Amino acid sequence: MPKLYLLLGGNLGNRTLYLQQARESIAAQVGPIKQSSQLYQTAAWGKTDQPAFLNQVLEVDTALTPEQVLQSINRIEHELGRERQEHWGARVIDIDILFYDELVLQTQRLTIPHPQLHLRRFTLLPLAEIAPELVHPVLGKSIRSLLEACPDQLEVQVYAE
Ligand code: AMP
Repeated sequence: MPKLYLLLGGNLGNRTLYLQQARESIAAQVGPIKQSSQLYQTAAWGKTDQPAFLNQVLEVDTALTPEQVLQSINRIEHELGRERQEHWGARVIDIDILFYDELVLQTQRLTIPHPQLHLRRFTLLPLAEIAPELVHPVLGKSIRSLLEACPDQLEVQVYAE
């Protein structure tokens, strides 16, 4: 079965509860979760006057196509009551596709691998926890080496409840 990596993030309300509900919906609608990183806390990116984000990376086995995964995660985001008033604004849950096996895809609706993943410590750090040797199919480098080379200075910390 194709191996999928997802990034979850949220910075509104009961953040750990929304992440838990998102994991339950993903397991039910996308496929079984094989690995999950710890939760990481990061200052809001791109817009600093809002609460800090919690992020988590999941490895999921899925029988869905990438388009079907996108439909499912959009549905889960809506079910969990996402509010989308501003581009970098607050949200209860955001789900991004990081990798889908070694697939490289660029359509109007979907870019895989996620085009920003190698630029963001809040993505690379949780990803490196569960898949340090995974090689980015476009950049040809492991997650560990992308993290070492990442210029992002935002502080990302393991979040203990
Ligand atoms: P946002 O939640 O603001 O990051 O944007 C969501 C939209 O980005 C989705 O509806 C997708 O059409 C598009 N998109 C493009 N590439 C990806 C990806 N790798 N993962 C998730 N959404 C993507």
